[in-house]
Amino acid sequence: MRRTLYYIGLAVAVMFLSTGFQKQPHIDVKNDELLVKFTEKDAFTISSFLTRYDMQVIQSIDKLNIKHIRVNSGQDLATIITELNKSGLVQYAEPVYMYSATITPNDPKLGNQWGFLNTGQDGGTAGADVRATQAWEISTGDRNVIVGIVDTGIDYTHQDLAENIFVNPGEDAWADPNNPATGNGIDDDGNGYIDDWKGWNFKDGTNNALDDNMHGTHCAGIIGAAGNNATGIAGLNWQVQMMPLKFLDDMGFGSSADAVAAIIYAADMGVQVLSNSWGGSGFSEALRDAVQYAMDHDVLFVAAAGNNGVDTDVSPEYPACYDVDNIISVAASDHNDTRALWGSGGGGDNCGIVCSSAYAALPGSNYGAITVDLAAPGKEIFSTIPGNQYANMTGTSMSTPFVAGAAALLLSNKTGLSVLDVKNRILSTVDKLNTFDGITVSGGRLNVAALLEFDE
Ligand code: CA
Repeated sequence: MRRTLYYIGLAVAVMFLSTGFQKQPHIDVKNDELLVKFTEKDAFTISSFLTRYDMQVIQSIDKLNIKHIRVNSGQDLATIITELNKSGLVQYAEPVYMYSATITPNDPKLGNQWGFLNTGQDGGTAGADVRATQAWEISTGDRNVIVGIVDTGIDYTHQDLAENIFVNPGEDAWADPNNPATGNGIDDDGNGYIDDWKGWNFKDGTNNALDDNMHGTHCAGIIGAAGNNATGIAGLNWQVQMMPLKFLDDMGFGSSADAVAAIIYAADMGVQVLSNSWGGSGFSEALRDAVQYAMDHDVLFVAAAGNNGVDTDVSPEYPACYDVDNIISVAASDHNDTRALWGSGGGGDNCGIVCSSAYAALPGSNYGAITVDLAAPGKEIFSTIPGNQYANMTGTSMSTPFVAGAAALLLSNKTGLSVLDVKNRILSTVDKLNTFDGITVSGGRLNVAALLEFDE
């Protein structure tokens, strides 16, 4: 547990975006919470131990035998972790890490979807796109495919998203489909979540997964804004079901504990693809276990490579860099098919969700010959934001839903594919590019038409 103790000593509030400037990645943890995976199943022994150290269980993640625990604020977390590890009761005890959205937003402005079809309309290179219009000749998506968006929530009242939001068939519909407070107050499907008709808010423990930021709504539009509806934009999937899994707060921050709960919920609810546009430097064993749980439930786990401009083979970010086979880590390309740069080198005054001068002039997309799988458009991407609005946003956060959306489109067109089939097809059908050769596993940028045309 040396690593854990070391991290506790570095309990400094820092977000994903800033770590590229640090020699030593800063890792943010909660100072009075733990995640503990018990080996001892005897409830009395566990409860005696918790009482002895004045700890309360906040939530039980039973599928992983993990308890999320609050520690009396007067106690030293490092000491407790040491005691827990000596007790023989636990497989591991770790702090609750904080992660953040991988976002570099621009001011809202009208734009276009160059990532889907690039004709050089905004000064870029024609053809530097994911071939969406060709892919749509093969499939435009299917309502039977379920994609979970682990993020800040989704504005499911948005005119371009409403018809493609997942509804839980086992839960009674809310009286007002736009108002989570109008449920019947009953856990109709008995899954432990009351009135979870349109996803769940894991941060607050409520059924209100509406987006109070804009990040999750922007990602949702890339995956599945309704197509051919004479409104706004089209997503990669014109028809799909998108499940809001809110764990990031209104500033784009969220904890490992809530991310773990969201991933388990999604896997149990039949999600096939998870889109994860967030991350951080904290290595959480519980989060890794949750990603493995998703793998064991045939869920593809698409994750942002991060926005620090660093080689993640050297400076890993999580969850993108866990050694679990269902993970696809995504870098950002720009409209010239090169690795996206932010800040002055990449055009515009971009900054993070928590905008401060310390985070200005960010270097660009992360990369990694071993740890980053492929690139997808991630600069000045036009998509939905709350309140029936649209805006450009930038970051590997935007690249991630391109790949998650492509996986969903493939699943709409072909049945019987395993998670590894989907991943291998995505990586083997990229457009190979010198700009991503040697800095990604596949050496290229997503090509959705080639993905759908692929025939072994
Ligand atoms: Ca329920």
